[in-house]
Amino acid sequence: MKITFLGTGTSQGIPIIGSTHPVCLSANPKDKRLRVSVLVAWDDYKYVIDCGPDFRYQMLRAECDSIDGIVFTHEHADHIMGLDDIRPFYFRQGDISIYAHKRVLKSLRKKFDYIFTTKNKYPGAPSVVTNRVKKNTSFKLKNLAVVPINGFHDALQVFGYRFHDFAYLTDMKTVPDEEIEKLKGVKVLVVNALRIDPHRSHFNLEEALQFIDKVKPETAYLTHISHLLGFHEEVEKTLPRNVFLAYDGLEVII
Ligand SMILES: [Zn+2]
Repeated sequence: MKITFLGTGTSQGIPIIGSTHPVCLSANPKDKRLRVSVLVAWDDYKYVIDCGPDFRYQMLRAECDSIDGIVFTHEHADHIMGLDDIRPFYFRQGDISIYAHKRVLKSLRKKFDYIFTTKNKYPGAPSVVTNRVKKNTSFKLKNLAVVPINGFHDALQVFGYRFHDFAYLTDMKTVPDEEIEKLKGVKVLVVNALRIDPHRSHFNLEEALQFIDKVKPETAYLTHISHLLGFHEEVEKTLPRNVFLAYDGLEVII
């Protein structure tokens, strides 16, 4: 399995438009972060987790010319607003499969009504096949069983996903113990770490490290990073030996 980090930034991305914060002005490419997403590839299959406003450029940058589907964590704008840009995939492949909680499907239907409509549909609009993800119910993506991990982003329910030896959790603030059990034995864990100071809906660095300590993966990567976490090179020096900051373009083979 190959994981490609398409974006590792928080909702505004880094740099933030107009910001003069030193991290936003950094020349290091690892300090430039598009909105959060990963490409998960195995055998001949490719799925993306989330489809934010940078989706088009992320697909071009990763030279990804086909996808088998999109798995959504939740409905916030930084995770869904690229959905219109599935058009090139739709034109070549037909309807695109999407997977999400029923609340997220409802939100997508409202925001992208022209994609979901069946009446007088504009010929250039893409189409999707919806698949509902339910708590405590694993689902198949081709030949792989995927386990949803139920957590909370402040009060909002969010799904993380376990793909065999790999698990991806973003926008988490609380994860119940019974859900942490579902992550046991995972080799590579990706989890959100927003910044140093606490935040009401995201793990800060300390909470992310405590969470990693509970799951005990072989290796962990931090994502959904704000400029307020600091410079990539400096923060990484402070981390435990098996924990790394993800950066855009990073590929991990599992
Ligand atoms: Zn987010």
